[in-house]
Amino acid sequence: MLAVIKNPSEVGISLEDTSIPEFSPWEVLLKVKAVGICGSDLRIFKYADPNRRGNYIPGHEVSGEVVEMGEKVHGFKKGDRVATEICIGCAICRYCRKGLVNLCENLNEIGVTMNGGMAEYVAVPARNVHRIPENLSFEEATFADPLACSIRGLELAGIKPFSWVAILGPGAIGLLATKVAKDIRRSNVIVTGTNDNRLELAKEFGAEHTFNIRNSDPTEEILEITNGGVDYAFEAAGNPNALQQAIDITRKNGSIVIMTVHKKIQIDVEPVIRNELTLIGSICYNYKEFDQAVDLLAKKKLDVKPLIGHTFPLKEAAQAFDFCFSRKGVKIILLP
Ligand SMILES: [Zn+2]
Ligand SMILES: [Zn+2]
Repeated sequence: MLAVIKNPSEVGISLEDTSIPEFSPWEVLLKVKAVGICGSDLRIFKYADPNRRGNYIPGHEVSGEVVEMGEKVHGFKKGDRVATEICIGCAICRYCRKGLVNLCENLNEIGVTMNGGMAEYVAVPARNVHRIPENLSFEEATFADPLACSIRGLELAGIKPFSWVAILGPGAIGLLATKVAKDIRRSNVIVTGTNDNRLELAKEFGAEHTFNIRNSDPTEEILEITNGGVDYAFEAAGNPNALQQAIDITRKNGSIVIMTVHKKIQIDVEPVIRNELTLIGSICYNYKEFDQAVDLLAKKKLDVKPLIGHTFPLKEAAQAFDFCFSRKGVKIILLP
């Protein structure tokens, strides 16, 4: 089968012909129908450590069709249309037992620590697989993963209805969070970013106000609109400056959810103390959030089609990654 291969000792990816994966008694073999490229795939693309060995297939925003099943798998049949959760817990550690698989002490992730879905076939544990209805396209189903991330972030903040919410970074996660905060949490949403097309989409998704931070610093204006700051801010930009901005525009006693900054950074913590802000980390999601995401998509409570920037056949994966780096579309999807 054709697959995208990441050699962790080199920057970039390659396309190779490799064998169809074996599957364990607890796994299903999926014929991949669509796989999204997300920010973490771009980090994987750029990653290179000369000392690291072990090629693997990236891709975790996967939808497809069940073609084979291990002997212990029940509840699925050949031909089922499905989407897959990324986190594979050990089922033994205290976090797995509490249902916090995303915090597993021996965590595996599809497309990160093991072979993923940028291929014609992928083998995944049956417990990671969710059935999707006929009315949901495979392309739309790839959004279950980033949508579940957004739902978890909003959930951890405990957003109350009619609050002021700021979303910093209108990528897929930020835009999906905008829609959920607006339509489901009935909040007023402000979105900041650097790409006018994406800010336009944020408006379509229900943002009351958008600010292009390339043009000017919106802090004063946001404090004025919200009469002292937003109740909740979501850092979804992957940029340290966005976290500082979140701190500066959040009202006293407010909360900030950090969703995408994955590095050591310097921030001024004084306002966190003086304003009694709560900083919340949010990573991935679990069964519940993924299930909610599939449900929202299936019931068409959230139309993700405007976010599909472009689709590429799997054999044009290199061009698809180039397209992502050019930041032209919000979500780029590979079709094996
Ligand atoms: Zn993702
Ligand atoms: Zn575990």
